[in-house]
Amino acid sequence: MPPVVRFAPSPTGLLHIGNARTALLNALYARREKGTFILRLDDTDRARSEEKYADTIREDLAWLGIPPDREERQSARTALYEATLEKLLKAGRVYACYETEEELEFRRRRQLAVHKPPVYDRAALKLTDADRAKLEGEGRKPYYRFKLEQKKVAWSDLVRGACEIDTAALSDPVIRRADGHWLYTLTSVVDDADMHVTHVIRGEDHLTNTAAQIEMFEALGAKPPAFVHHNLLTLPSGEGMSKRLGHLSLRSLREEGQEPLAVASAAVLVGSADAIEPVSGLDALASKIDFSKISHGAAKFDPKDLDALTARTLHGMPYEIAKPRLAALGVAADASFWEAVRGNLSRFREAEDWWRIVFGAIEPPLAESEREFARKAAEHLPPAPWSATSWDKKNWDSWIEALKGATGRKGRELFHPLRIALTGRENGPELRALLPLIGRERAVKRLKGEKV
Ligand code: GLU
Repeated sequence: MPPVVRFAPSPTGLLHIGNARTALLNALYARREKGTFILRLDDTDRARSEEKYADTIREDLAWLGIPPDREERQSARTALYEATLEKLLKAGRVYACYETEEELEFRRRRQLAVHKPPVYDRAALKLTDADRAKLEGEGRKPYYRFKLEQKKVAWSDLVRGACEIDTAALSDPVIRRADGHWLYTLTSVVDDADMHVTHVIRGEDHLTNTAAQIEMFEALGAKPPAFVHHNLLTLPSGEGMSKRLGHLSLRSLREEGQEPLAVASAAVLVGSADAIEPVSGLDALASKIDFSKISHGAAKFDPKDLDALTARTLHGMPYEIAKPRLAALGVAADASFWEAVRGNLSRFREAEDWWRIVFGAIEPPLAESEREFARKAAEHLPPAPWSATSWDKKNWDSWIEALKGATGRKGRELFHPLRIALTGRENGPELRALLPLIGRERAVKRLKGEKV
């Protein structure tokens, strides 16, 4: 059966690279196994969820190359949650409670003071109908908890192996607050069951929820999915990443010009046995995913590694991949241009600068003392006609040899003024590759100090 997976962020902030890890593990697993990748917006917290964040999540996924096959949002599914609540209330698996936050906090403190675990004492289970009517008469609104079976729940996690949690050690999870807003513990299970999710791939911060959620699947008469709890990414300092604090947001990496494939490789491979090497594409990255090899400890992510990975991704990028992106920058370049410049790029957008340098007008800042040399270089250029298409690779060598002979220069003394005259830049792609693109006529003019 092809897998069905979901990435379920709440649209309450910008996705960071740690969230990208979860999204990619889901999407690439589905891609490799020909399954379905659902984006599920967990937006039941109406106060904190914002449409602008939902938009950015979609943009981020598209940028990473993993647009979802389907999108769902929890705010559109509350009727199903209501019906489930009714069903579970009738079955005695959900109960209404009336404590305020302050009362609960007070009880927790009292438990801690006598060295007891701060587990909810189920006081609300002892309420009679009359007690409930009285509390509601006083204006209290119920909140709801799921009644755990207080048993050992075991599952075989695809990352962590055999797991077991005793739900007797847990508080009955709150599933809906008194203000009517749903907490995701139950809604997530309702959706996973309803959408036939086969694998729940998420961060290990959800491990303890899993036991309660397995009980919920059972209470709904649904088979629990496979669980895949991957390790979390931290900053180099060891600090956890936070959506709220805006750590390493995908949007900022996108705006910085990092390559999406580099970000994806880093997000997936960090902390694994595989070196973080540029990959040729998402299929290649998907083939490296092996849940059983994901480490159990947190993985440090150093943003500094991304610059090098982005550069290396560009250096190996085939023209067919670059072509539409060049076109989007207004650069109608052919393969010879791309192949001439890609090895020098640290960001994709720099290709546009080189396009302007090669085909636009530049005014080379050549020192007065170099004018004579540059004029000589123009005189020794291989005879016309030649252009990018008729350029013979030997032309470069014969030009440089002739120039060495005529001027006695070599090394930097020879190449630096040529570079300045031809490109106006101190550094850049190999002149040998740029010269035929610039073309003979314009090269002569540039060497003579004309602005072309
Ligand atoms: N909205 C939850 C979160 O972002 C989803 C957890 C899950 O994947 O089950 O933490």
